[in-house]
Amino acid sequence: QKSIIRQCKLPGETVDGFRLEIQANIELAEELQSVLDNGGEGVGLYRTEYAFLNRKQPPTEEDLYREYATLAERLAPAKVTLRTLDVGADKMMNSQEKLDEPNPALGLRGIRYCLKHQDVFRMQLRAILRASVHGNVAVMFPMISGLKEVRQARYQLNLVRQELDEQGIPYNPDMPVGIMIELPSAVMIAETLAQEVDFFSIGTNDLIQYSLGIDRANKHVSYLYQPLHPAIVRSIKYVVDAAHRGGIEVSVCGEVASDPYCIPILMGMQIDGVSIAPQAIPGIKRIIRQVNMEECKQLLRDVLSHATVSKINRKVRQTIFKRF
Ligand code: PEP
Ligand code: MG
Repeated sequence: QKSIIRQCKLPGETVDGFRLEIQANIELAEELQSVLDNGGEGVGLYRTEYAFLNRKQPPTEEDLYREYATLAERLAPAKVTLRTLDVGADKMMNSQEKLDEPNPALGLRGIRYCLKHQDVFRMQLRAILRASVHGNVAVMFPMISGLKEVRQARYQLNLVRQELDEQGIPYNPDMPVGIMIELPSAVMIAETLAQEVDFFSIGTNDLIQYSLGIDRANKHVSYLYQPLHPAIVRSIKYVVDAAHRGGIEVSVCGEVASDPYCIPILMGMQIDGVSIAPQAIPGIKRIIRQVNMEECKQLLRDVLSHATVSKINRKVRQTIFKRF
């Protein structure tokens, strides 16, 4: 028990000194203690939609401002990345259930919902900007499929900034703005998108769903939901390289990043950080602290040379995992 607690406080650093930022994914402010107890270096993904779900009336700007400001204050100087409302599909709001959508996963969700309901979007952006003076706050937009959505979202953010300026309400003008890369179309234009934002966060839960055409919640096809599918490994690598060529940071916030079989491969790509469930942090740190970058890069090269998931899985088991 003592060694696990000690392990939590140590950085996610390889034997040869490569450091990975390890942050947490949370949905409720109450989870913050568990982030700190498990050695999280901040919150890389705050799923803000949970404050909107299971209630009759949507939250007010004041409700959200208080929630975000408290988070920012308690975490400072560590960062909290607030993802704007990602409702739809598996996270339906009460008011949304009336929508006639035969296929909600391909419907009005994430940034699409926000760009359609700009009043809700701007209300949330006001709360986020106001909270930004209370700590180290970043914002990111989910379900980006193309350049226009990024520009439209940034346009709304600028409108809110102007409004706050006019009202003399303080905010951090340098608050980083990022996007989730979780659709195959965003992967393919990652180089262009990197010119428009401050950081990428790769959402592999949806990237796998949309790349492989596998409903992430459908148990009948869960056997096909394979994080080490060569298409997924290549997609992630493509995004990491595009981000770095564009001079921005890239982290991974999907479940893949807490999978012991995947983390050495992500390390080999030289991602800058991961954001994972708080409880997964100690175990992932333990793995990172036992590998070196050269073996991770070699593993990545081997994995990229294989065409099937079973060969990739075997390779991963044979190399890194014979040690654990
Ligand atoms: C993802 O899609 O990988 C992700 C982290 O976001 P969510 O699971 O909330 O869709
Ligand atoms: Mg997602």
